[in-house]
Amino acid sequence: MAVSEDRPFCKKMINIDFSLAISGYILITLLIVFLPWFFSPKNKDRELSLDPHFIWHCSICTYTYINTKQDNISVCPRCGSYNKR
Ligand SMILES: [Zn+2]
Repeated sequence: MAVSEDRPFCKKMINIDFSLAISGYILITLLIVFLPWFFSPKNKDRELSLDPHFIWHCSICTYTYINTKQDNISVCPRCGSYNKR
């Protein structure tokens, strides 16, 4: 009699422990995923930041392109015209 009364209680305890373990696991996984994500925008901006000096706007076809080699004159990759700074 005592055994049959104990079993449901025991099962309930295991279920609570299991759900606790799952929720803890999900919480830890979310922390691992989101903690770097919170810090990443700064680094991403730093990596993507480009010197505005390298950005060119073609005066003929209004094409915007990046040229890090030339300083004063660059060739538009779309229409081939020369653009002055
Ligand atoms: Zn052009």
